[in-house]
Amino acid sequence: MNWKRDVVIGKRHDLPVFADVDVLVVGGGAAGVAAAETASRHGQNVILIEKYGFCGGAAVAGLSGTICGMYLSSDRMKQPEQVVFGFTEKFRSEMERRGGITPPLKYGKTWTVTHDPLVWREVAEDFLLESGVNILYHTSLVGVLKEDEQIKGVIINTKSGMAVIHAKVVIDASGDADVIYRAGFAFSMGDEGRIQNPTMIFRVGGVNVETFLRYWGNDTICSSEVTSLIHSLNKSGKYDLPRSKIWVFKTSRPGELLVNATRLLGQDKRELNVINPIDHTEAEYLGRRQVREYARFLKEHIRGCENLFVNDTGVEVGIRQTRTVEGVEKLTNEDVLSKRKREDGIACSPWPIELHAGEKPRVEWLLDDYYDVPFQTLIPEKGENIIVAGRCLSAEHEALASARVTAQCFAYGHAAGIAASESIKQKQSLRKIDGREIRELLNKDGARLP
Ligand SMILES: Cc1cc2nc3c(=O)[nH]c(=O)nc-3n(C[C@H](O)[C@H](O)[C@H](O)COP(=O)(O)OP(=O)(O)OC[C@H]3O[C@@H](n4cnc5c(N)ncnc54)[C@H](O)[C@@H]3O)c2cc1C
Repeated sequence: MNWKRDVVIGKRHDLPVFADVDVLVVGGGAAGVAAAETASRHGQNVILIEKYGFCGGAAVAGLSGTICGMYLSSDRMKQPEQVVFGFTEKFRSEMERRGGITPPLKYGKTWTVTHDPLVWREVAEDFLLESGVNILYHTSLVGVLKEDEQIKGVIINTKSGMAVIHAKVVIDASGDADVIYRAGFAFSMGDEGRIQNPTMIFRVGGVNVETFLRYWGNDTICSSEVTSLIHSLNKSGKYDLPRSKIWVFKTSRPGELLVNATRLLGQDKRELNVINPIDHTEAEYLGRRQVREYARFLKEHIRGCENLFVNDTGVEVGIRQTRTVEGVEKLTNEDVLSKRKREDGIACSPWPIELHAGEKPRVEWLLDDYYDVPFQTLIPEKGENIIVAGRCLSAEHEALASARVTAQCFAYGHAAGIAASESIKQKQSLRKIDGREIRELLNKDGARLP
């Protein structure tokens, strides 16, 4: 079906004006929260709109559950070495202060931390409100206000109806590049239309975590014995477990584990593209069914899990990838693999390429080093007063499978918030701002970019 995407209005329209702000942030995921808090702290009048009644996006609604991308990977290091700071560290340390995050847990050759989804929402909200951001929940972006190539604001839809918000700068932190899409700007979609598999993540309670860890070991990625067990159970016909390399994380709550295990294909085994509402719907109900199958497997075969119950699934199926903006610059696979450093790098990432396609996710480690993400991957090829932040940044397919994790999404938001603010203060087009300047300002703001 050919969906109508370009809900674009110009100067003349009969929609009421809800607000007129400096910066409008679309989406309250990791990137949107960081962008809005930063722009507000830098003196701008900011509104953040979010379609749900809470912040967190894929990390909370999708229950992705851990902050990956903060620590180097290594074959030799025994202790985690953190290389990402700035907003990411500010958020992590506040989560820690409130008891909502674990210490670093082993994940293959690197480490990650598990976060509590309720504390995540509270920290995000407190950061936003304390910095003076106006939050508008239960509000969706459905179109843009555009004059020539200039974005002048957006059209929102609420329970009361539609209205417009005027803004000097719009930050597209929707994850799905919704503003870019509605404005008719260019984007790509995965590997020639094939995107990474969605996953329904879930939490289980009633676990004897000590017994579990004695059996499972301290790596959150399952052992080859567990993978073989899954294979043999599938062969026996007693189970249907489509992913054999699964990840299980201890959480900050007693008796609880977070399980990243499902792999969702359509009933006819087609790859699902969750931008299509039919595929998205199928992913939700198949995801919930598959959760029950993996929970049965854990209960019947994994020590410490004999009395487990499913606590919850994500509010929505976890979506790794949809639209990727065509940016002034594109993060390439080679940039990632060669650990390329950039003078205009606004974020650094040590996270491996973690590609979810096929039965086993493919992981390519970047040992003892990291790469930089250049500023202009956030600037769309076309359009003024618009910048993206988060997993829809401009990147090649495999590069995105590294650059999309939460620590980096916080960092992109941090950078976009500063860039939006500078663009307004300097009365300068975003595309003319020098990434080196943003990097310097990020470092003044605690980013510690080396
Ligand atoms: C299954 C899965 C497992 C993952 N595991 C990990 C992990 O363990 N660790 C890790 O660090 N990362 C993980 N990730 C990746 C990480 O969670 C995401 O890439 C990151 O959270 C994306 O942040 P974001 O802010 O770019 O986008 P999102 O989190 O997607 O935020 C976008 C926000 O915009 C809102 N929104 C969207 N459209 C509109 C609209 N039109 N109007 C209003 N609001 C809108 C959404 O509701 C959402 O809140 C995982 C992702 C998935 C899917």
